[in-house]
This record gives sequence, C-alpha cells and structure tokens, in this order.
Amino acid sequence: MNEFDVSIVTPDGSVVTEKFEMVSARTAAGDIGVMAGHIPLVAPLTIGAVRLKKANKTEWLAVSGGFLEVRHDQVTILAQSAERAETIDLARAQEAKKRAEHRLSTKVESMDDARADLALQRAINRMNVASHR
Ligand code: ATP
Repeated sequence: MNEFDVSIVTPDGSVVTEKFEMVSARTAAGDIGVMAGHIPLVAPLTIGAVRLKKANKTEWLAVSGGFLEVRHDQVTILAQSAERAETIDLARAQEAKKRAEHRLSTKVESMDDARADLALQRAINRMNVASHR
C-alpha cells in the first residue's frame, strides 16, 4: 500500500511527523478512514482516538478535538491536545475522570456541566487509548 505524510500538531508542538498507509479518526459526522488518493477534505474532530497504520506498525493517539485536513496526499491533524498511547499518564486520566464525575454528580448552580462532561470524555478517551500500548 502507498504511504503518505501524516502530521499531528498541537499548540504545544508537533506530536507526529511520519509516513503511514492509513489514518482513522473520529469526526463530528462519524468515523473516517483515509488512505492514499483520498479526496481533499477538512473535517472537525471530536474527542476520540486516532489510529495510524502501516505494514509493521500501528500507533494510537488520544486527541481532544480539532481539525483533520487531507490535501495533496498528505494528512494534517491540528488538535487541541494529542498524546501517543505510550505517553498517556493513566493515573492522571483516572484522577481527571473522578473529578469530572464528582462535579457532574454534585448539582451546584454555578457548576458548568458541559465543561465537566468534556473533561470526562477526555479522561475516558485517554484511558481507552492507553489500553492500546
Ligand atoms: P487534567 O485535568 O488532568 O489536566 P485535561 O483534560 O483538563 O486533564 P487538557 O486541558 O486536555 O487536560 O490537556 C492539557 C495538557 O496536558 C495537554 O498538553 C495534554 O496533552 C496533557 N495531558 C492531559 N492529560 C494527560 C494525560 N493523562 N497524560 C498525558 N498528558 C496529558
């Protein structure tokens, strides 16, 4: 299969610059798989896993929303945050999950439920992706 350039960039810097044969990601409209020759595309990403595949390697990353762009046979993901499975701090994600669940279970008027729900989704996503290392 044909390899193409993949880059994943966050406000903190570049997380991936490598060639792969396939990129799978979760967009607002559903899961997407990109291979060489894919039509140009820009799609918003939700909190979810990104999977990068080539013959002898599969990489999993947790991303927290952003955009995926396919152009000139190159895939660029601009993400709010992105961590490779191996770099995820599982204890931190578990703590974040507990914090978010606690916030969601204590109904205080000043509490921003939507924000707590997003924090919960980020934590669960990181825990899921960490299980792929
Ligand atoms: P926390 O409450 O633990 O900070 P968060 O979901 O609020 O979690 P983010 O705002 O999404 O954190 O991310 C802030 C920075 O910390 C980003 O650079 C992100 O990659 C990193 N990060 C967050 N959680 C983890 C984790 N469990 N393991 C590794 N890096 C993490």
